[in-house]
Amino acid sequence: MYYSSTRGDAEKKTSAEAILEGLAADGGLFVPSEIPQLGISFVDALLGLSYEERAEKVLAQFLTDYTEQELHACVDRAYNRGNFDATACKRAEVRAPENAPFPVLELWHGPTSAFKDMALQLLPQLMRTALQKTGAKERVLILVATSGDTGKAALEGFRDVPQISILVFYPEGGVSRIQYLQMATQEGGNVNATAIRGNFDDAQSGVKAIFSDAAFNAQLASQGVRLSSANSINWGRLVPQIVYYFSAYADLVEEATIKMGDAVNFSVPTGNFGDILAAYYAKRMGLPIHKLICASNANNVLTDFLTSGTYDRNRAFYKTITPSMDILISSNLERLLYHMTEDKARVKGWMAELAKTGRYTVDAGTLAKIRETFAASWTSDEQTKATIHDVFERSHYVLDTHSAVAWHAAETYREETGDETPVIVVSTASPYKFNASVLEAIGVDTEGLDEFAMQDKLHEVSGLAIPYGLSSLRSKEIRQKGVCSRAEMRDAIRAFMKKQD
Ligand SMILES: *Cc1c(COP(=O)(O)O)cnc(C)c1O
Repeated sequence: MYYSSTRGDAEKKTSAEAILEGLAADGGLFVPSEIPQLGISFVDALLGLSYEERAEKVLAQFLTDYTEQELHACVDRAYNRGNFDATACKRAEVRAPENAPFPVLELWHGPTSAFKDMALQLLPQLMRTALQKTGAKERVLILVATSGDTGKAALEGFRDVPQISILVFYPEGGVSRIQYLQMATQEGGNVNATAIRGNFDDAQSGVKAIFSDAAFNAQLASQGVRLSSANSINWGRLVPQIVYYFSAYADLVEEATIKMGDAVNFSVPTGNFGDILAAYYAKRMGLPIHKLICASNANNVLTDFLTSGTYDRNRAFYKTITPSMDILISSNLERLLYHMTEDKARVKGWMAELAKTGRYTVDAGTLAKIRETFAASWTSDEQTKATIHDVFERSHYVLDTHSAVAWHAAETYREETGDETPVIVVSTASPYKFNASVLEAIGVDTEGLDEFAMQDKLHEVSGLAIPYGLSSLRSKEIRQKGVCSRAEMRDAIRAFMKKQD
């Protein structure tokens, strides 16, 4: 298997090379030359296995240039070293709240309490192994643009990994207080977090511009530094996410919630389209998925696209109570367009239009094909809070805001279609990451409470344990103080790298 760009066939890379490079040279995203076709027997063979064992089997399908031993070592370091909640024997846990229509796939038992840990604990290990495999001697600088959760999860995943440094840009004032504290208190000799004056798209487009700035890259290369990405455009971010769809399905079969071979739907709170795209790969590989429900907030560019076939980022940008989904350019959609059309020239054309005019429209045939798998809806902040409230009242289960958007989308989908296929709601963050919104939704007065008093309050009303990584922020020193404009990002990089050799 090899990897090439969504926009052309000029390069053919191994998965190790694709993971090191992050983005293809022509600005496209790396996609695999084929999607493995596995029968239901592959799923059946996952029963009774640990998450780590399942991960090795799924990863081996795509990372064909890694040896079994290499994959084993990577998976072991990522998931099996006490990084994940010691009390949860499963890394990705399916919960069935009482009196509730949907089981919930909890993906937030990692070190930073967000689903991004599922991929960002593994990516650094895949990357470090790729450096060894390719014999690369340079220092890798990981650049990340984050709307909140990716930043912390990446900092935590890469901290003190040899031969790699990481710099995270996040929108100043555009992340929650907890997300800010998580990044600003980050420890490690190879890490930096810098605030950008602007929103997430400014941070993301700034990072993209740096990746394609030949002169700047040459300057770094002369100092023995090569750029790479840990954003969800990196194949090494995406492939670990395929694992938990298989694992959740196997868990549901083991618990006899479904029978082997039964179809299921997943409702996924979506921003950059990475999480839901991983589910699409799982479906193409043979996991019995019927529909994927793309759940958005008021930044509903994907709802419009999946309904009308027109992607149009020329619209108001809203700050919502689901900041990790406050995104107008969903980068991973490009991979879906490629797999739907297998026509790189067309994908390249759409992406050129998007860059030039901020919009493009796919043909009716492509839209129809996408809609065979994808349903979509969006949820207002008010409705998100109402959902948290209702689920807590009825099931004494606390959803975070993002997961509540997915829950509501699942309800909407059922009402609109009458499709009774079991829906699994994908839960992407601990409610303790969004205390104020969650408490308000439940109906608890937060007046005068700081984040930590709110954590205590939420613990009091819900009984849910506070994750250590969040409660320990109380006493941690602020270490990351940089702020810059979009124009000053290169200077921030130069200053940081000076201190890295
Ligand atoms: C990143 C994130 C999402 C969106 O995931 P994508 O892969 O970007 O679509 C949803 N919820 C939370 C809590 C996140 O951190």
